Amino acid sequence: MKRCLVLGALIGIGSLSMLVAGFQAPPAGPTPAALAATKIERIKDNLYIITGSGVANTNAFSGGNTAVFITNAGVVVIDTKLPGWGPTILQRIKTVTDKPVTTIINTHTHADHTGSNEAFGTLVDSVVQENTKANMARMDEFKGDKAKFLPKRTFKDRFTMFNGKDEIDLYYFGRGHTNGDTFVVFPGIKTMHVGDMFAWKALPYIDAGNGGSVIEQPQTLAKAIATLNKYVDTVINGHIPISSMKDLKEYADFTQDFADYARNAVNAGKTVDQAAAEYKVPSRFKGYATGGNPDFGNAKDNLQIAYDELKK
Ligand SMILES: [Zn+2]
Repeated sequence: MKRCLVLGALIGIGSLSMLVAGFQAPPAGPTPAALAATKIERIKDNLYIITGSGVANTNAFSGGNTAVFITNAGVVVIDTKLPGWGPTILQRIKTVTDKPVTTIINTHTHADHTGSNEAFGTLVDSVVQENTKANMARMDEFKGDKAKFLPKRTFKDRFTMFNGKDEIDLYYFGRGHTNGDTFVVFPGIKTMHVGDMFAWKALPYIDAGNGGSVIEQPQTLAKAIATLNKYVDTVINGHIPISSMKDLKEYADFTQDFADYARNAVNAGKTVDQAAAEYKVPSRFKGYATGGNPDFGNAKDNLQIAYDELKK
């Protein structure tokens, strides 16, 4: 479970013990390398991202990509990085607007996407998918007195906030990375933040402890694409720079290919170890890796989860 929460932080780190230690004692403050890597960049019009996901360099890791959407009423922040990053997020926002942060949306429960929610206080509005709120309530960051920082509002399948060019549409299409991943759509500028439903171009990290599913993820992505294709061209990812709807389609295809591989391996009577050793990324997925790290999102972890699901 603890492994799951720091997933992002783990990319590129070889030592699990370092990671678990890192989770138990979060960095006291941003490292100089992470601060340097955390920049605010305009995506379109009034939408920015604060980067610094640092996939290739854990020393520069601050958490997932944060989106900053400036509406008439105030600033909407999507994902708040690891604990300790609130002041930096606010400082970066100040360089592009004087408006206050009025709303937080978290794409899902993990601490590298929700860790600095508390820095925005208890007056800010906050929205997540209902399963994500339940997952967050089990995290140390939101226990006891800190429960006051849990999201105020939830939705099940669909939720619209604001209107006109400020409209934001939240969608839930089913299980994948967890059981509560939101697609945050800005229809006025044909852009969406998909969090870790497309974190990187590699096998996903699936958090089975928070309801994630290797087998259902491809169907969830297919539903998202079918519904949102006409509204979106630009995609903000969990942990890589922005991509396109075309990239998301390729990723969905990649996850379907892997789910099919797992099903065939089960049917052929292969062990998880055998199937993992034999897995190769099909050559049509250019630039894809089996996983960002030997300990996370690798073929063996994904196959074990798929086997558990298929054998139920
Ligand atoms: Zn995540």
